[in-house]
Amino acid sequence: GGKGEIIQIHIGQAGVQIANACWELYCHEHGIMYNGRLMKPCDDSFLTFFEISGMQPTVQPRLVMIDTEPTVIDEIRTGAYRNLFHPDTLITGKDDSGSNFARGYNLMASELLNRAMNAIRRVADHCHNLRGFLIFRSIGGGTGSGLGTRIMEKLVEDFGKKMTVVEFLVYPSPSISPVIVEPYNALLSTHFSMDYADVSFIVDNEALYDICAQTLNVPAPTYTNLNRIIGQVVAAFTATQRFSGQSVSFQELQTNLVPYPRIHYPLLNYAPLVPVSHSEFVDLSTAQLTSQCFSMSNQMVRCNPEHGKYMACVLFYRGEVAPNEINLALENIKRSKSFRFVDWSPTGFKIGVSPVPPVFVPHGDLAPTKSACVAISNNTNIRMAWCRLVNKFDKLYQRRAFVYHYVGEGLEEGNFNEASENICQLVHDYIEVDASAPTSRRESNDGE
Ligand code: GDP
Repeated sequence: GGKGEIIQIHIGQAGVQIANACWELYCHEHGIMYNGRLMKPCDDSFLTFFEISGMQPTVQPRLVMIDTEPTVIDEIRTGAYRNLFHPDTLITGKDDSGSNFARGYNLMASELLNRAMNAIRRVADHCHNLRGFLIFRSIGGGTGSGLGTRIMEKLVEDFGKKMTVVEFLVYPSPSISPVIVEPYNALLSTHFSMDYADVSFIVDNEALYDICAQTLNVPAPTYTNLNRIIGQVVAAFTATQRFSGQSVSFQELQTNLVPYPRIHYPLLNYAPLVPVSHSEFVDLSTAQLTSQCFSMSNQMVRCNPEHGKYMACVLFYRGEVAPNEINLALENIKRSKSFRFVDWSPTGFKIGVSPVPPVFVPHGDLAPTKSACVAISNNTNIRMAWCRLVNKFDKLYQRRAFVYHYVGEGLEEGNFNEASENICQLVHDYIEVDASAPTSRRESNDGE
């Protein structure tokens, strides 16, 4: 395809389980069977995510999955899609990272890291025009957070800063995971990996859980339910990278969205979220789709963008959408009082549109719709997500609780202070961006 290729890297349990949801959906989208056979002669849109292998029309995902222990990837090796994935792209060690960033980062890394990087280089060698990497990992555990950081460091070393690295970070949620030290892992990982990512999307399990439980009427959502939402969002996010239409490349995404390298944690929203139980077929207008996409209940992370300011927005539409309606809808959004842009931003919206409608997996939680939209906006209120983590981190660290586990695996106490200071600084960076707009100055005058 003329669009170039994208390689996806799935690290740790969350990263690998999200792969299940994503690749099942991509196969449905491109008419690829569970064994990699193409169901019908088709266009070359699959070439962004898949490479052709062998003589038959068989394809393989351009991906690498890595875990420190084998059980999660073994399920893929023995599961329904076992013949889709090339065995050399499934990399496992024999040891658990014990939900400890330091273990993933230091001790077990070297041998696994070499194998992982070799696998990534092999997949990259089969690309003609590699556009970038999509990385999936949680930051609350040990493998995605620790080994994931090492892999990203190596990616930048091996492929250079020109290659765009976009990551999806599963953000810890205490109501879903009982592991107490997740705030440590999350802050340490963010501190050590921040410079290696160009754009990072925080995917908050709590927000996903609420979307499933409240919006989609799924009584007790499991990781499978959460991951399918993530899959749908990633598929819409990447539709213009694969299919025809007006595209926004990863490079352009970064250029438009990230005014300062550290301020690279945009909000990720998806619409429509229609429960499969909905009896009537829902057909939204483009205007409705757009306004829903800016609703807080469609957000993958919890924070209130009305309390912050927007620096930039990129919208990806797919399916039947009316371009003139997009402009009208955006004019309406811009006019609303609660939607504030920083004063130095041109209030521009960058738009990608692919006419290929979304595809939905059978037995999913989302009702099929003819169109979908992903809104990516750099909003200063994302700082609340970091504040929450810093607070939880501080509560543990004030008592030095569990710190010896990390020191025993090669970290220094100084690293904890550095990580906490760095993320506090990040929060302040966002506050500074916020203060640079005239609206906030007016507010403070009003208060006097
Ligand atoms: P690792 O294998 O050491 O990287 O550890 P995990 O990926 O299991 O990290 C634990 C964190 O990831 C916790 O916050 C879990 O709630 C979350 N998590 C684990 N598995 C999944 C999953 O399949 N989907 C989602 N959304 N989150 C997960």
